[in-house]
Amino acid sequence: MTDVRGRGPAMAATTETGKRSKKDELLELLRDEWRLGCANGVVSGGMRALQAEYGPFVPPEVFVALRHYSTLDVANRKRALTLAGKLLREPPPLPQTPTPRIRANGEGDHPPPRALVRPAAVTPAAPPKPKPPIVIKPMAPGDEVMYLRGVGPKNAALFEKLGVRTINDVLYLVPRRHDDYSQLRPLSHLNYGEVVTVVGMVMRIAEVPTSTGKPRTQAVLMDETGTINVTWFSPYVARQLHTGDTAALSGAVGEFHGALIFTNPEWERIEPGTDLGSRIMPVYPLTDGLYQKTVRNVVRAALAATEGQIADWMPEPIRAAQGLIPLGEALAQFHFPESPDTYALARTRLTFDEYFLMQLGMVQRKQAWQADAKGAGMPIDPASLQVFLEHLPFTLTGAQQRTLDDILKEMRGEVAMSRLVQGDVGSGKTVVAAAAMFTAHHNGYQSALMAPTEILAEQHYRTLTRLFSAFPPEHRPYVEILTGSTRVTQRRPILDGLQRGIVHILVGTHALIEDPVVFSNLGFVVVDEQHRFGVGQRARLRAKARSIAPHMLVMTATPIPRSLALTLHGDLDVSTIDELPPGRMPVETHIVRGDERERAYDIVRDAVDAENQAFIICPLVEESETLEAKSAVAEHKRLQEAVFPELSLGLLHGKMPPRTKEKVMSAFRNREYDVLVATSVVEVGIDVPNATVMLIEGADRFGLSQLHQFRGRVGRGSDASTCLLIADDVGRAGQERLALMASTNDGFVLAEADLQMRGPGDLFGTAQSGYDLPLRVAALGDTRTLERARHAAEAVLATDPHLMQPQHAALHARLDAFWSHEAGAGDVS
Ligand code: ADP
Ligand code: MG
Repeated sequence: MTDVRGRGPAMAATTETGKRSKKDELLELLRDEWRLGCANGVVSGGMRALQAEYGPFVPPEVFVALRHYSTLDVANRKRALTLAGKLLREPPPLPQTPTPRIRANGEGDHPPPRALVRPAAVTPAAPPKPKPPIVIKPMAPGDEVMYLRGVGPKNAALFEKLGVRTINDVLYLVPRRHDDYSQLRPLSHLNYGEVVTVVGMVMRIAEVPTSTGKPRTQAVLMDETGTINVTWFSPYVARQLHTGDTAALSGAVGEFHGALIFTNPEWERIEPGTDLGSRIMPVYPLTDGLYQKTVRNVVRAALAATEGQIADWMPEPIRAAQGLIPLGEALAQFHFPESPDTYALARTRLTFDEYFLMQLGMVQRKQAWQADAKGAGMPIDPASLQVFLEHLPFTLTGAQQRTLDDILKEMRGEVAMSRLVQGDVGSGKTVVAAAAMFTAHHNGYQSALMAPTEILAEQHYRTLTRLFSAFPPEHRPYVEILTGSTRVTQRRPILDGLQRGIVHILVGTHALIEDPVVFSNLGFVVVDEQHRFGVGQRARLRAKARSIAPHMLVMTATPIPRSLALTLHGDLDVSTIDELPPGRMPVETHIVRGDERERAYDIVRDAVDAENQAFIICPLVEESETLEAKSAVAEHKRLQEAVFPELSLGLLHGKMPPRTKEKVMSAFRNREYDVLVATSVVEVGIDVPNATVMLIEGADRFGLSQLHQFRGRVGRGSDASTCLLIADDVGRAGQERLALMASTNDGFVLAEADLQMRGPGDLFGTAQSGYDLPLRVAALGDTRTLERARHAAEAVLATDPHLMQPQHAALHARLDAFWSHEAGAGDVS
């Protein structure tokens, strides 16, 4: 490394002479200054005089550290002296790319060095130039972000990409995390690869040209413990940040020529006078072209513009009883908390809000639905039920029987049923639904069963026709199927038969809720895998009934911990099938290390030799479905050519047109393929009883519930099945998760564990509730708050069911706004 400014050789020369060098002299003087209580009195004229004399002989950073010494308080003078001494003994390294000219911005009227201070306060004795006070124009939460100070049309467009359009959206922009500047890492204690936030003084910063023609910024940051080189692939930072500034950088610690570096870290100038000890900074999601700093400033501006004007819609007695802080305070502390404690209070307040509004709406909908949904009372004829049970090839499990009893009891009544049946894959939900539809049929009512995909609709159609084919003809309901790919020539007779009451049960996709579908007497509705359907779609299916409200049964194979099911499906009653049919062979699950992959492939080969089939699931690619599809294509090719040339391998991914997917699936079911290589699209209840091996690559990247769904694709026939979880490089937590997978086949246990480990975020993330609600903070929340909100909602509605009392006016308005997306969805009848 060459020293472009030539100070190195000069210093070397003085040291070699053996005389006391200028450097040593200065060091001695600085020690004197320290001993004399940092009074700025070692020479008449103070530091300025020292600089005049010694400046030319020592690294320029030394006097950068000492700049404005006279204005500092004693603590900061000590820090400045320490730093200067350190710089004298070990000059900082230089930036590592060709560095023609370091901008000489070390002189002039910069603010005093905000010496490197962690975690104590930076308190210059006399602040340099007081900024003119900023006049804050008050704004309303509904105002567009564009009109906020510092946001122009360009930034407004970028914010729009984050879903932020109004001031209110800004206030509810959820930080990805917070960085606690009081927990900063000293530069000497950084490790390669970790993501950290550091604070230090900018010792040099310069715009440097590169061979690509795109200039960069090179800088050196220093604290009392060390230095680090920083590169930004943009000259912009060099124009914003100057030598002597104190800055916070966050990013991954990289390495270059054996030294640790930061590349393109997020950065922020720390203003003088900032108390770093209590500084917790939000880190927001970004989009290309939008800077962390900009978002922070905009959030600050939004908070300032609405300060004192945020009306708290939460009724005071509820707020007090729940120990919640006022809304305005919560929003401020949610973004820029004074301490971890105030952040926790803010977060609880805001998550409670969303849960509370969600629960209020659900409970109200359920009550409204039950008040005016006059259902068809369907008396149960024990003889006909007996026919059903007698012709089943098995007897119902206790859990199936209990669930069926729940359903039949409600079918008899005049209030339309809204019931969720949750049960693990293979627990036998379809049979229970079939028994209910059979009962409706014997009462003269038609049924509809809606599935999220054509594959699943066909599967249900096949199951039902097979089941009923064993029944005596006079008891046999006539089942038809209607999907997007039903031919026009077939559609007519189906729709016609439906209208004339000849078709008793119609199975299909959302084609069922389209206009031309008219039932003569719809009385029972089944919705499978409900989280794929919005509540609006459910309501539209229900609305197909004429004069009465049909009973509705929603089936889901995604077990939700009991604690959550009641609240998340607040508008439904819940039955749980928590028992598998007897004789089911549990799927044996093994964790396989990446370097043992060959053994896993042998197990696949053995299965195929035994005339069985296998699934291979490709790793999850979170960034995009396109990338995931690409990697699945590559994996399929590799496996087919290099690993299983003797077998026939199918490929299934999310980017295929639905028709192609259906074709591949039915080919696999017909054993045209030995192995199906797939992305997570096979997750939903696909039934291929002949498949006995489920090999999952990158198993650690999936949630437990999702792994369990994959595993549920095998073990559906009479042969013993195996699930192989392949994971490279998993940490201890990952190991434990996979070990739990291997140790239990109980989806509820796994769902509970997922909830404990990942929080309810995933459950909201997949919109389990089926509602399209503006949940923003809710995913951060916790089950305890959710339950509290549920109880609070029930309590307030018990005294004021329609929130008409004056003290609930603001709450009422807020509730309407919150549910406005779903307008009408709950009360179509
Ligand atoms: P789910 O939809 O809950 O995943 P299904 O209803 O598809 O489960 O049932 C899975 C398999 O178990 C089907 O082949 C079904 O015929 C069979 N089955 C259901 N109930 C029983 C039972 N009580 N005893 C034996 N087999 C059953
Ligand atoms: Mg099923």
